Parts: sequence; C-alpha cells; structure tokens
Amino acid sequence: MYQWEIKIPKKIHDTKFFGNLKIEVIDKGICSHCGTCATICPVNGIKVEDKPIYFPNWEKECIDCGACIKVCPRWDYKPLNGIGDYLEILAAKSKRFKGQDGAMVTEIMASAFEMDLIDRAIFVGRDENWKPITSIVKDIEQLFEETIRGTKYSFADVMPRIKEVVKDYRVGVIGTPCMMSGVRKLQQESGIFNNIKLAIGLFCTENFYHWQLHEFLLKEKNVEMKDAVKTDIKRGKFIVSLKNGSKVSFPVKEFDPIIPSGCEVCQDFAAIESDVSVGSVGSKAGYSSVIVRRENAKKVLDYIFEKEYAERGEVNIDAIQKLCEFKIKIHPYPPKH
Ligand SMILES: Cc1cc2nc3c(=O)[nH]c(=O)nc-3n(C[C@H](O)[C@H](O)[C@H](O)COP(=O)(O)OP(=O)(O)OC[C@H]3O[C@@H](n4cnc5c(N)ncnc54)[C@H](O)[C@@H]3O)c2cc1C
Repeated sequence: MYQWEIKIPKKIHDTKFFGNLKIEVIDKGICSHCGTCATICPVNGIKVEDKPIYFPNWEKECIDCGACIKVCPRWDYKPLNGIGDYLEILAAKSKRFKGQDGAMVTEIMASAFEMDLIDRAIFVGRDENWKPITSIVKDIEQLFEETIRGTKYSFADVMPRIKEVVKDYRVGVIGTPCMMSGVRKLQQESGIFNNIKLAIGLFCTENFYHWQLHEFLLKEKNVEMKDAVKTDIKRGKFIVSLKNGSKVSFPVKEFDPIIPSGCEVCQDFAAIESDVSVGSVGSKAGYSSVIVRRENAKKVLDYIFEKEYAERGEVNIDAIQKLCEFKIKIHPYPPKH
C-alpha cells in the first residue's frame, strides 16, 4: 500500500491557514503584495486589489488547504539579495519597440512568441490615470499598443492572472522580484506551473499602491497622472513627463511616507529568481541592462541578436551591484524599528 506524503505546513496560530497568513504576513506588514497566494487559492477567495491583500469572509470560505502559506515568499521570510547567478550581463536596445528604457522586456517576450516558446504573456498596461491593467497577450501585434509597454510604479495583479492561462498554454510572465520568487514557489508546488516558460524580472527598489501615488502627486506636486506620458526613476529622482512637454522631478526620498511596509523589508533589487532580469541602472539612456540567468532566456537573447532585433550597448555591472547593496542597506531585515 502506498502512503502519500502530504506536506501540509505547520500552523503557528490555531485558526485557518489564511488566518495564519493574515496574522504572520499581512498584519505584520511584510506582505510584498506579489499576489502568489491568490494564484494558488483553490476557491479564488484571495483578492489582489489596490489595498492590502485580503480574503472576504475567510473564516467561512477558506477551505484550510494551506496552499497560500506554501507559496508565500514572505512566510518564514529570508530575504534574497545580491546580483544573483547569471550567464551573461549586457546592455541592449530593441530596434522594433519603444519602451521604458531599451524596450528589451518587450523584445524578449516578442521574440519568445516568434520562437514558439510561449502562447500567452501577461503584460501590465494602464488606464488614463496610470492605474495598472494586466493584459493577457496572444501575439506580437498587441505589443505595439503604447500603454502596454513602460513602467507603472504601482502594484499589478499579474500573479492571479496566471491562473487563467497556465493550464492550457505556455506562459510568459513579467514582474517585480517578489513575483519572480512567487513563480518559483508555484513551480515547486505544482507541475502545472512549469508551463511558465519564461519569467522576466524587473529591477525594483520599491512599488506603490496606485491610490497613494496618485494622491501624493496630486496633493504634494499638483500633478494629475492623466496628464503624464511617462513616469521614471533616474538617479534618485522621480520624474513625471507631462503631455505639455514639461517635467516634474523630485527626490524619491519624498515618497518615504507612502512606501508600502512590505517593500521596506525587501532586499532583492535584481530579481535574482527570474530567468532574465531587466532594468535601467547600469546602461545608458535608451538602453536596458539585461541579466541573463537561465538557458531558456539565453536562447531568446541569442535569437534576438542573430535576427538583429536589438543593438548592444555598454553595461556597467558595478552600478547594478551598487544598487543591489544599496537596497540591502535601506531595507534591513528584521527591520530596525
Ligand atoms: C515598480 C517598479 C520599480 C522599478 N524600479 C527600478 C529601479 O529602481 N531601477 C531600475 O534600474 N529599474 C527599475 N525598474 C525597471 C524599469 O523601470 C524598467 O521596467 C526596465 O528597465 C525595463 O525597461 P524596458 O524598456 O526593457 O521595458 P518595456 O519593454 O517598456 O516593458 C516593461 C514591461 O514591464 C511590465 N510592467 C510595467 N509595470 C509593471 C508593474 N507595476 N508590475 C509588473 N510588471 C510591470 C509591463 O508588462 C511592461 O510591458 C522598476 C520597475 C517597476 C515596475
């Protein structure tokens, strides 16, 4: 007779598993808002919106399976940090797409479609107020839509959208470092998530609740997000480029009061669990820095250069390293206060 080993995590509190997650991660303020718990929740109870993660009526509706706790990157949290393992680091600029920096995120995903590595990709577009709207992209044509490219400095529900496609399709995912950790946790938990064939991580210092970013810009800077054509962080400054051609720029330090507490305990700048990480730091304006970590991503990059879809630039690895160290310094764990 077979004896199945069912690895149910240990409860810390005598309540349902979601209650444990709530007490130990959400209420303690270390939740990164990655949304991985919502991806796996079998009753679709966990909500990823523009406020802390929640599960309405969890006392009744949580089926106490423990899956949320098993995939949460912040349960029994040990921060990841550093530049991580890699095969190659380079700077590049897409010749086909315009993006936040060198549009290499879009280029890598577009090439993965062309190479028939993926059938669907989850992108983060936006509404006119820059509120993130995730989209499930089916083909390259959709990537020429302007708002689907570029950085939105607000939490997006990328992870729960995986659930809609992962059973039937090979999927590409783009996300912040915490989301990349979520992808790996999901893959450890269930083979179905091996259908995530490409995980592109974004360099990240911190992210924001959209309503708080919106309110800050309006009240403190008299900026309406609907008037923005681009938002960016460069050399410690947040820069909003406006439709009228002017720019509003101020030190990111001014955001301190609205940094979500879950970001304040994150030390992973370079998305070290991704297949390939992309960011701005370390390359010239108009280029993306690309850290190729795994063979699947290397194949895509080789294809891109073979097809001459992108041109190479110079990369400054020390600058990336510096940001990795800076993030450890500004986000100590356990927190000092
Ligand atoms: C919250 C946040 C903070 C960042 N902080 C830094 C930083 O401190 N230093 C640095 O060098 N780089 C940072 N980046 C990365 C940088 O802004 C660019 O996204 C990166 O350089 C890729 O540029 P690109 O031109 O290659 O991407 P593009 O080709 O323009 O594609 C970018 C893609 O990223 C995805 N995306 C956008 N917003 C989000 C979001 N909120 N959540 C998940 N996915 C999203 C979209 O699908 C979009 O298509 C940050 C990104 C985010 C989202």
